[in-house]
This record gives sequence, C-alpha cells and structure tokens, in this order.
Amino acid sequence: MQIQQNVSLRPFNTFGIDVPAEYFTSITDIASLQELMDDAKLPSVRHILGGGSNVLLTKRVNGIVLQNRLKGITVIKEDDAHVWLTVGSGEVWHQLVMFAINSGWAGIENLALIPGTVGAAPIQNIGAYGVEAKETIGTVTAWHWQEKALVTYNNSQCSFGYRDSIFKHALKDQVFITSVTFRLNKQPVYKISYGAITEELERMHIGTMSIRAIANAVIAIRTSKLPDPAQIGNAGSFFKNPTIAKEHYDTLLIDHPGMPSYPAGNSTVKVPAGWLIEQCGWKGYRNGDAGVHSRQALVLVNYSNASGDQIWRLSQQIVDSVKDKYSIELEREVQVW
Ligand SMILES: Cc1cc2nc3c(=O)[nH]c(=O)nc-3n(C[C@H](O)[C@H](O)[C@H](O)COP(=O)(O)OP(=O)(O)OC[C@H]3O[C@@H](n4cnc5c(N)ncnc54)[C@H](O)[C@@H]3O)c2cc1C
Repeated sequence: MQIQQNVSLRPFNTFGIDVPAEYFTSITDIASLQELMDDAKLPSVRHILGGGSNVLLTKRVNGIVLQNRLKGITVIKEDDAHVWLTVGSGEVWHQLVMFAINSGWAGIENLALIPGTVGAAPIQNIGAYGVEAKETIGTVTAWHWQEKALVTYNNSQCSFGYRDSIFKHALKDQVFITSVTFRLNKQPVYKISYGAITEELERMHIGTMSIRAIANAVIAIRTSKLPDPAQIGNAGSFFKNPTIAKEHYDTLLIDHPGMPSYPAGNSTVKVPAGWLIEQCGWKGYRNGDAGVHSRQALVLVNYSNASGDQIWRLSQQIVDSVKDKYSIELEREVQVW
C-alpha cells in the first residue's frame, strides 16, 4: 500500500475543488483496510472517496483519504427469474449498468449515467427516472472499523429512504462499504412513465422496447439536461426535493398557485427544489467562479477556480432565500467535508 502526503484532491472530486489531503492512498483489497488500522503511524481519521461526485470539499482534509478501488463482479446465484451479483464497491456505477444491460439483466437501466462508484450507491440510495437503487440491492457488505470485521447488512437493515440510508446516520464514518449484492431481473419490467422517457423513446423511433432502449433514452436526456463535470465542475443535484405537510403546501398555493408537487404519503407532498430555487431568482446566477447552472437550478457549479467554501456560502444564501419566501428548509444532498 503506497501512502502519499499532501495530495491535491482536485482530480478526485467532480466539483474540481482544489484542497489537499494530509494523507492519501488507494484501497485495492480488503486486507489493506486491516493493514491501515494496524499501522500506528497513520491517522485514525479516515475519509472514503469513491468517484467524488457527491462531495463538496470546503477545507484541507486532515487524516487519510482512502480512494476506493475494490473491483470485481461475480454472479453468485441465479434462477429462472433472477440473477444475484456481488459487485466490488469500487466498480464504476455506469459500467455496472452497462454490464447488466449487455447481459440482459434488468432493474438498474433507468439509473444509467449516474456518476460514481457502486459502493456509494446504497449510501444515498441513488435514484433517477422513477427507480431507486434500493429496489435491487439485496445486501451491503462493509468493513466495520470498530468491530475490525466485515459485516453484511440486508436490505431492511440499510433503512433506505429518499436519498437516505443507515450509512448517512448510525453507520456514518463507521464503515467502509466493500461490496454490494444486487438481485436483477431476467424478465424486465419497463418503467418509462417518469420524466421525459416516453417522449425520448418516441423521438428515437424505438420499435421494440428493451432495457437498452430505456438506458439510451435516459443517457440522451441526462446528457442534454445536466452539465458534464468534465466541462463544468458540479455534483449533480445539490439539494434534496423537500417533503412538506400537505396543509403547508395548501397554504402556499394561495400565494403561489403554480407551485408543483407530487404526493409523498402520510399527508405530505414533495416540492421540486429546482423550482423553488428558480422562483427565488437563482437560476444562472454567478458570483466569481461559483454559480447556479443556467439550465438546471438544482445544480451548483464551479466554473473554474471556486473554493468549496464559496460554493457552500452560495448554497447557504439559496437555503435562506427559499426559507424566507416559502418557509421551506432545503437540505443538502451533497456531503460537505
Ligand atoms: C452530473 C451528476 C449527476 C448526478 N445524478 C444523480 C442522480 O441522478 N441520482 C443520484 O442519486 N445521484 C446523482 N448524482 C450524485 C452522485 O453521482 C451519487 O451520489 C453517487 O452515488 C456518488 O458516488 P461517488 O462514488 O462519487 O461517491 P463520493 O462522492 O466519492 O462519496 C459520497 C459519500 O459517500 C461516502 N462513501 C463513498 N464510497 C464509500 C464506501 N465504499 N464506503 C463508505 N462510504 C463511502 C463518502 O465518504 C462520501 O461521504 C449525480 C452527480 C453528478 C456529478
């Protein structure tokens, strides 16, 4: 295991924020995790980095950054209807999606082109176009720092919610996710009613429906709507869509009759955060190199050399203005370091 000191994290986060890590190493096997713990000279403060597509780095990172490179995709079981795959947490998510499609296995095609690693997928239960990772995750295996052992959590123990799981709460900073087991379907159930998938499929003149066609439609929509981090630094949606009481929503409708919403159960509704931010006048806003994307108000961007702190302060201004106007508290989806 090669340990480097004072390494710039700029190439390792999609916001392109330039802060140094005190120590940095890549994890390519599970034995290295034990090794790390046995080395008394190394700091006990550990930060795990996958693709860096859901983090905002606001300051020098003290301790050791562990870049996840645990690889491997293994079919562990199959029957007539399903196949179970155990996937190394450092595999690239989109490559897993394409592997599943090429094998004819359904369930994650709507999640094509989401950046990042497989190991981060359960953390915020990644979701897009009407599908969430939790629908196909069977188990998550992780190295538990305190227990000094691998522990496997079944789907219900992961407490998945909207962009949420136990890994953001009770197990935050407690574990290094090493692999995820997925159950994929041999008989696809197509989900095309969400977003613009149907329109895109029509535009693409798809004759026969397939998981590949859906993934291609999703890829086309995402490419046209979302800024490419290779061109402009960003971490996708910066905020979650807030859930508010239906009563609160009904009151807001009096002054804001166009406010969109969708039911979220238990007398609550979800309001698109992008709409709220746009109504507060932030879409296309730019201050130095920190800004709000001109086509997608939910995406904060680093045009070149913004600091993480500048992006964070902009996000706080947005939170404050939405709160002032709508009495709705936006929650950041991005993990702030
Ligand atoms: C352009 C763009 C579009 C996006 N679209 C979507 C979308 O449609 N839906 C969606 O849900 N998300 C979306 N995202 C967010 C992001 O892609 C996901 O959250 C992704 O799962 C993050 O993966 P990562 O490997 O980059 O995680 P990182 O950013 O590296 O890490 C995120 C957090 O998870 C922790 N972590 C990472 N790996 C592990 C591990 N193995 N064990 C323990 N902790 C770990 C990190 O410490 C950090 O706190 C988008 C991001 C971008 C840039």
